[in-house]
Amino acid sequence: MRYLFALRSRMTEVRQKTDFLRKEMEFSVNEVSSSEFPVIRRGVLKLRGQSGQECQVETPGCFFHTHFGSIPHLTPDDLQYVKDSLSCIPLNMTLSTASVFADALAGYEKSVGAFVGYPSSVVYMSLHDPLVPLKPAMNEKATIGIWNRTGKKKLTPEQFMDMQDKLKPDSVQIMCDMDTEMEGSSNQRLTKSYDSSLRWLDRCLELMKDRSSHYPVLATVGGGSDPWRRKNFCLEAANRKVDGFVIDGFGSGWIAKWKEWEVTGSSLFGPHEALIRESIRSLPKDKPRFIHAPLSPTAVVQLVRMGVDVFDTSYPAALADRGQALIRTGDFCFEVWTMSEKGYFDDLTSLSTRCGCYTCEKYTRAYIHHLIACEEINAGVLLMIHNLNEYLKFFRDIRKSMDEGKFHLWMPQAEAGRQQADRD
Ligand SMILES: [Zn+2]
Repeated sequence: MRYLFALRSRMTEVRQKTDFLRKEMEFSVNEVSSSEFPVIRRGVLKLRGQSGQECQVETPGCFFHTHFGSIPHLTPDDLQYVKDSLSCIPLNMTLSTASVFADALAGYEKSVGAFVGYPSSVVYMSLHDPLVPLKPAMNEKATIGIWNRTGKKKLTPEQFMDMQDKLKPDSVQIMCDMDTEMEGSSNQRLTKSYDSSLRWLDRCLELMKDRSSHYPVLATVGGGSDPWRRKNFCLEAANRKVDGFVIDGFGSGWIAKWKEWEVTGSSLFGPHEALIRESIRSLPKDKPRFIHAPLSPTAVVQLVRMGVDVFDTSYPAALADRGQALIRTGDFCFEVWTMSEKGYFDDLTSLSTRCGCYTCEKYTRAYIHHLIACEEINAGVLLMIHNLNEYLKFFRDIRKSMDEGKFHLWMPQAEAGRQQADRD
């Protein structure tokens, strides 16, 4: 009896060691540089979920942005109309919204993906919803502040890891103090942000050693808007045992500013461009770099040129929220159309004549205009189906152009966007 118990214990130990050695995230990437651009990266990110589900993301590529676990405007069944199925696009959940149902999942044996209706999806848990501006004064010395519909929830690293244990995602963005302003943060605040972020990163990595579940973790590259701190933070984070990096920590005005830039059309990076370049230059080449923000195709091209690998679909969702369609007007050109405008009232053309998605095959601009005028929820559904198809095709085309050595053809549009931003 004692022998059997000992054997069972040993088997458990071996299984745990095997699980720990199993690679849940593998990234292979090739870097190419030329006279037209300093470096571009073409890669493959392989992910394996805790329930055994697998997916492979070609990079540059994107994860599905979700809100409270759902892809905005769509049910899981609606995804049959989106090319590139969920089998190869992971869900990007955010802790700020998932924290609401974390306690309910404590006794749930299935994955968080199964809980929200996507049982075969790999789930990545990032910190904040890129479509919700960060509220200031989020963090304290020992805690990060997570805002959800119940208010502010304070989390120590221990509580942060406990919450991840309840949610059981397949990869995690480690907590970071982003409570700085884009401009004008005091040295004291920047120092506290820097110190807290590194301390929390180390504590979370230490806590992970004692956990039964092991999943890939991404370090958030902090340092605020100070170039020296940002460079040093990247160098420090690069020395930790992490699986990738999130380029963020630009301050509480970062996401709000993104939205403003997108609305005005001057969508590039202003003072942040040098900071992003500095961050990326200091990171190891063999690990994926993520960024979470609603990014237009022009902005994505710029960031790909700087060496970012993974994005999300918050941009097509933001457009659908506003009744707007992402329309491809040329091989390398896009426009955003506001479908409530009067000109679409009797326009019986397909939404986009260049797109073959479900929405464009079956519906006219006039019908979508009518749905918006009547505040019918199907307007968001049809626009989201189209916007997602258009955005995902854009990523496929970027990768194809890299494979064919033609990425430079995207640059005139990105350069035009940059010059417009400089003029503004
Ligand atoms: Zn379409």
